[in-house]
Amino acid sequence: MPIGRVAVVGGSITGCAFALAAARSGAEVTVYERTTGELADRGVGIALHVDRYAELVAAGYLDDTTPWRNVNGRTWLLDDGESARGRSLWDQPAAFRMYNWGQLWAGLRRRVPAEVDYRGGTPVTVGTDGEIHLPDGTSERYDVVVGADGYGSAVRTAVFPQIRPQYAGYVMWRGSCAWNHEPIDNLISICIPNGQGVMYRIPSSGGDRISWGLYSAVGGTADPRPALLALARTYFPPFWADLVTSTPESDTLIQPINDLVVDRFTSGRMLVAGDAAAIARPHVASGAVKGIQDAVAFEAACREVGPAGSWDDVLARYEAERHPAGADLVRVARSMGYAMVEDTPDWTTMTPERMVDWWAAQHADDGFGGHALGAAIGAR
Ligand SMILES: Cc1cc2nc3c(=O)[nH]c(=O)nc-3n(C[C@H](O)[C@H](O)[C@H](O)COP(=O)(O)OP(=O)(O)OC[C@H]3O[C@@H](n4cnc5c(N)ncnc54)[C@H](O)[C@@H]3O)c2cc1C
Repeated sequence: MPIGRVAVVGGSITGCAFALAAARSGAEVTVYERTTGELADRGVGIALHVDRYAELVAAGYLDDTTPWRNVNGRTWLLDDGESARGRSLWDQPAAFRMYNWGQLWAGLRRRVPAEVDYRGGTPVTVGTDGEIHLPDGTSERYDVVVGADGYGSAVRTAVFPQIRPQYAGYVMWRGSCAWNHEPIDNLISICIPNGQGVMYRIPSSGGDRISWGLYSAVGGTADPRPALLALARTYFPPFWADLVTSTPESDTLIQPINDLVVDRFTSGRMLVAGDAAAIARPHVASGAVKGIQDAVAFEAACREVGPAGSWDDVLARYEAERHPAGADLVRVARSMGYAMVEDTPDWTTMTPERMVDWWAAQHADDGFGGHALGAAIGAR
């Protein structure tokens, strides 16, 4: 890597992975994270496809010390008005590792070398020239500025002020609650009109929990919680509805679903990564994978260019590798969101054979769980 100083704005999943990538490549790294204290007590569940996990272990970004729960299938359920847990429409093959978001973040944070200057409680703004403005009124310049600052990215706003996340027209309620039943190892998808429920088991320091989500367009109401409770009670099989309705409001959050992909991931000496660069709807289950892969690609570009090379060359390689992959995931995720929320079939007519055709029509296998690292992504 060319010798230099790298600033990473955002110290979440993508930011920690970039701090690791840049430090391993020999740079002097500063991370600016606006949150004070630990992020480890935040979040609910997050999924890693087993093949993508294996690639990230091989690249040296993840290891098996972080707790996880196994998923070896996906069961699509419909409330039949009779059975407490609903009727199975389809048992689909699926292979994921399910994490507690806070524990996954903590594992990545632990991997960031001690010589990295990780400054929590430091919200920054970024000038169009890449200058970083700190809360104490001082400014800093770096050779490269990485925007790992999520969907509202200050780095992206500096480079592409006209580009904003586009609301997809629906939300996802998320929550988690204690799981005191048998250890389930499938991802539960609950089929509802113009929406979907998802449930899976995650570890936590206080015992296993169920991380649940509910997608619906019924979210823009003035008081969304009654809408959430009514949806769960009306459409979920009673067993799963109880998990949602018994989750305290303090453990429930509402996330607007957005689409975003910037035209370029780099500009001058700035680059964007993770959710700052491309937001794929969560149906594609690859947000963490994509952010860490961006860092792996940056490290690979640094190695390819070598100490005698230029930063421009590093950023050009990063652009060529990651922009097509990010744009393609956003495309797949939109298609899945359309089929799973915006234009759902009449679930009562679905058979396992029809479910297979319905899934294939979404082209979901083109990206569900994320693309393989280094995969050549063609324009479709
Ligand atoms: C606290 C938290 C909990 C989450 N929980 C879940 C979850 O349970 N399940 C799930 O699927 N996804 C969760 N996500 C989102 C998930 O991390 C991302 O979708 C994905 O992993 C990509 O991560 P990212 O690092 O690119 O973006 P993000 O995780 O959004 O991280 C962006 C980071 O940048 C920081 N930041 C933003 N602006 C500035 C600024 N101006 N100056 C300094 N710092 C700034 C933010 O505080 C944040 O830590 C969570 C994100 C956060 C921040």
